Amino acid sequence: MNTIHFKIATPEKIIYENDVFKISIPTTTGEITILPHHIPLVSIVQAGELKVTSKMGEQIIAVSSGFVEIKANNEVIILADNAERAELIDIERAEKARKRAEEEMAKARSQENVDYAKLQAVIDREMNRIKIGKKYKKINIKNN
Ligand code: ATP
Repeated sequence: MNTIHFKIATPEKIIYENDVFKISIPTTTGEITILPHHIPLVSIVQAGELKVTSKMGEQIIAVSSGFVEIKANNEVIILADNAERAELIDIERAEKARKRAEEEMAKARSQENVDYAKLQAVIDREMNRIKIGKKYKKINIKNN
């Protein structure tokens, strides 16, 4: 078998499921590239850019933190808090959400019991969406 059955699930839905040739995933120990017959592995996914190559070409997906499991039978599953295909990212929405989180962070400095890590994670998630959304738009403008 020369393809990998690849699935990305979030608590809301399955956002991607396809037979693919190659997957590049951002993890806490760097980017891992998975080809068919990869050894079984579990790793921690870090917010970033995920690339999938299938017969449709290369697709880019913005992914937040989560886990990846590579099984022995050419099956790979990612469980992530959030994931969006680059072409579906609403950049304006992400920019507004980032601004809101940054304002909350600025206010938080004068308050007690603030979950800074959670606020920072929101900012990181929105920045990742913005970066990937803009990159996709740029590639698309160039190709059309
Ligand atoms: P908001 O932008 O309203 O603050 P949020 O960041 O709180 O939203 P999430 O809880 O991260 O939203 O995600 C809710 C759903 O909306 C998820 O399915 C997520 O993939 C999607 N989503 C969130 N932001 C965007 C965006 N900028 N573009 C496309 N889909 C998004």
